[in-house]
Amino acid sequence: MADYNVVVIGAGPGGYVTAIRAAQLGFKTACIEKWISPEGKNVLGGTCLNVGCIPSKALLDSSHHFYDMQHHAAEHGIQCKEVSMDVAAMLKRKDEIVSSLTQGIAGLFKKHKITRIEGAASFLTTHQLQVTAPDGTTQTVTADTIIIATGSVPVRIPVAPIDNEYIVDSTGALKFDSVPKRLGVIGAGAIGLELGSVWGRVGSEVTVLEALPDFLAVADRKIAAAALKELTKQGLAIHTGASVTSAAVVNGEVVVKYNDAKKGEQEIVVDKLIVAVGRKPYTEGLNAEAIGIKINERGFIEVDAERRTAVPNVYAIGDVIGGPMLAHKASEEGVMVAERLAGHKTEMHYDIMPWVIYTFPEVAWVGKTEEQLKAEGVEYKVGQFPFAASGRAKAHGNTSGMIRMIADAKTDRVLGIHIFGISASELLAEAVLAMEFDASSEDIARTIHGHPTLAEAMHEAALAVDGRPIHF
Ligand code: FAD
Ligand code: NAD
Repeated sequence: MADYNVVVIGAGPGGYVTAIRAAQLGFKTACIEKWISPEGKNVLGGTCLNVGCIPSKALLDSSHHFYDMQHHAAEHGIQCKEVSMDVAAMLKRKDEIVSSLTQGIAGLFKKHKITRIEGAASFLTTHQLQVTAPDGTTQTVTADTIIIATGSVPVRIPVAPIDNEYIVDSTGALKFDSVPKRLGVIGAGAIGLELGSVWGRVGSEVTVLEALPDFLAVADRKIAAAALKELTKQGLAIHTGASVTSAAVVNGEVVVKYNDAKKGEQEIVVDKLIVAVGRKPYTEGLNAEAIGIKINERGFIEVDAERRTAVPNVYAIGDVIGGPMLAHKASEEGVMVAERLAGHKTEMHYDIMPWVIYTFPEVAWVGKTEEQLKAEGVEYKVGQFPFAASGRAKAHGNTSGMIRMIADAKTDRVLGIHIFGISASELLAEAVLAMEFDASSEDIARTIHGHPTLAEAMHEAALAVDGRPIHF
């Protein structure tokens, strides 16, 4: 008999959620994690809690307060003279949040009687893993089912080698000990925009270099244009069509050369450079292929619709299998696998995936863009409502952006909702729920929304699909 019914490798948002759900369903469960914190402790939570979603949002909130006090407090009659930034205190707050959440997961593991195994897992056979602890000792663990949730790591590019002092990846950019005067960012994706915003708000002159010709190419075009305008107004210099050709540290500065699609060879000199050009799957040391697991040419573990690998008792979920590299995608995939092991028929709707970029205001969307629908030949109607016409947004003091709702021209079924505006991440939940329930725009238009709320903008966007917004 195996030691465990289920062993999960990795305790990021994919792995730890899988372990909890498996334990809830009555499986004898263990979770193996190798992450070592800067303090030298083995910690749970993976990328998301330690160096991803949570620390970045902690810094975004701190830097937002600082920026708001400097630029907007006076509008509210609050005089904030001589506001200053204590970077060490901001980082300490972030570290405390991370620590309390990672410890919280340890508590949840105890509550659910999940065995926590510290160390790096490596396949010996299809049912047997060797775990190497930080001190080098090894143990063997056997399981009926093994679920791989080993996540991803930042992509590195030869033109900008990380030295962790001047040229850093997202992890390094979460712990600058002072505000860089000039900050370069390669990549205008979620990480580049979020971490560029953090340091820009506390005083860095930020230049973002994006290789693609379009800004936020995956988002709705009108939303992307509104976001670009606003972020530029906030001081981020965003250059699209800019391919970096080299980055070198010269006399304590980083000289970044890039090819601008319109202007040719260009150069910027910065004090720090963040490389944020995507993430890649992580399977190092797993010995997965030796037991028959297939890994594709881009390094992702190949799985079927049920997230089963080429080895029948081994599943894989989260960043390591590709698709959107999002914490909630990883978690829900884990829930699906655990429930299917228990005989449930759980499915995931990948086309109803929430996306959020935590700039200020935020960019958030679910479903299809107009461009995608046009390419698919689908006829659609669009309802748009600007936050400038929202009483609550005015009271907040930020009226940038809008909600755009796209519905099928014939059936009125909602096909996509795109938001740029204050609290877009929270507003998106209604949009996701509506789409999960196959709502029509009329369903949302007929739903009573509290007043005054930002959510009224969602109601108005739904009314606008039928050409009958009240306040615009
Ligand atoms: P991970 O979180 O990467 O966890 C994998 C775990 O497996 C790690 O702890 C690793 O140590 C462990 N592991 C690997 N190999 C082994 C082994 N052999 N043995 C034992 N353990 C092993 N996503 C969002 O949805 N929202 C956000 O706001 C967001 N912000 C982000 C901000 C930043 C700066 C970054 C870098 C990422 C952000 N992400 C965000 C992405 C999100 O962090 C990932 O999509 C998510 O963490 C993936 O979860 P996962 O469980 O698949 O992998
Ligand atoms: P990304 O794929 O979102 O963006 C990377 C950007 O870098 C792209 O726009 C790409 O065109 C550009 N790029 C690539 N190579 C380049 C080069 N040589 N020169 C200039 N530009 C280049 O990746 P990311 O921002 O690094 O984030 C990694 C992953 O983490 C993403 O999958 C993202 O979904 C996830 N993440 C999510 C959130 C969130 O949900 N809010 C936040 C952070 C990260």
